[in-house]
Amino acid sequence: MKPFTYIVPGKLAEAATAAAQPDTVLKGAGIDLVDRMKERLQTPANVVHLLPLKDELAGIAAQADGSLRIGATTTLTQLEQHAALANQALAGLQQSAAMTATPQVRNRATVAGNILQFTRCWYVRSEAFHCLHGGRGPTCLAMTGENRYHAVLGWQDCVRVHPSNLAPILLALGAEYTTLLGKQEQRKKFAELFPAEPRAQNPEHTLQAGEIVTAIHVPAQPAGTRSAYVESREKQTFDWATTACAVRLVMDGGTIAAADLVLGAVAPVPLARPTAAKLLVGQKPSSQLFQKVAEAAYAGASPLAHNAYKLPVGKAIVREALEQATR
Ligand SMILES: Cc1cc2nc3c(=O)[nH]c(=O)nc-3n(C[C@H](O)[C@H](O)[C@H](O)COP(=O)(O)OP(=O)(O)OC[C@H]3O[C@@H](n4cnc5c(N)ncnc54)[C@H](O)[C@@H]3O)c2cc1C
Repeated sequence: MKPFTYIVPGKLAEAATAAAQPDTVLKGAGIDLVDRMKERLQTPANVVHLLPLKDELAGIAAQADGSLRIGATTTLTQLEQHAALANQALAGLQQSAAMTATPQVRNRATVAGNILQFTRCWYVRSEAFHCLHGGRGPTCLAMTGENRYHAVLGWQDCVRVHPSNLAPILLALGAEYTTLLGKQEQRKKFAELFPAEPRAQNPEHTLQAGEIVTAIHVPAQPAGTRSAYVESREKQTFDWATTACAVRLVMDGGTIAAADLVLGAVAPVPLARPTAAKLLVGQKPSSQLFQKVAEAAYAGASPLAHNAYKLPVGKAIVREALEQATR
């Protein structure tokens, strides 16, 4: 690992000043970042450690408007176990945290770090390979190489997938996020965190250098809201999803009055599927309807040589998420 200066700020304002220096990165628990630094894929001069800023960045708090403020350095265990998530509306958020990695990882991993973790593509994450997304080669090596965990939707010149469990459900729940850049605070819709054009040369998120995510805000959900997050993976634990689906439904009696559906682990960004979600609106839950929605969710998919399995598996996961949300 290349030597670097480790900055431990006492206040968020100090962290923001430190983060504004050139060649500086932010660190939550470091599970993803330090891995990449060890591989020399990221060699910053300065690392700003955010975990000491507990008062300003950690914890979950219900707000007066019924929304939930989730501090950026809240751990996945704290999220999974929080009483505010123990209801049908936020069940999907609870499930997405509970299904991540292992208890040891969840005890350390932060919410912001989970959402902003770098893709797991084995080419771009290895020092030995020189690919387009890593800025070190002319092409996407996964496109014609070993690609069983890669994208089947929404890809252009790079077939990486977005690995975060939390991101799809936060998108489905209509979350927002706040950031601090120098002295400037901003609040944006969660979808704005990801590039509209997820091309190889684009970074995986839209934050500027030195911009600190301070919190995620989950809006109050209308009465009758139910959510679910379901994923497929090769191992029971210690693994990332191969496909995932997050749904948010608003039920009016036995009818679905509103719906959001987001796919994870199958595209370079968490992928909202509004056309599929629209098929649910005004309908009563049924397995025929869910089959139709699952087909629509994967409409236009372009599997690669080794990942066509993601289509039948992914559709089954969509159906299961809808079953769970309407049970
Ligand atoms: C064995 C294993 C299995 C795993 N399985 C899963 C899984 O199933 N699903 C899943 O989603 N994840 C999984 N993970 C990934 C894990 O959840 C993430 O690595 C972890 O959440 C990252 O959080 P962190 O706090 O360590 O982030 P860090 O490594 O500290 O940071 C990650 C990135 O986010 C940036 N960052 C961190 N905090 C902020 C902030 N507040 N503002 C701006 N930028 C910030 C950093 O600069 C860095 O680029 C797994 C990890 C392991 C080791």
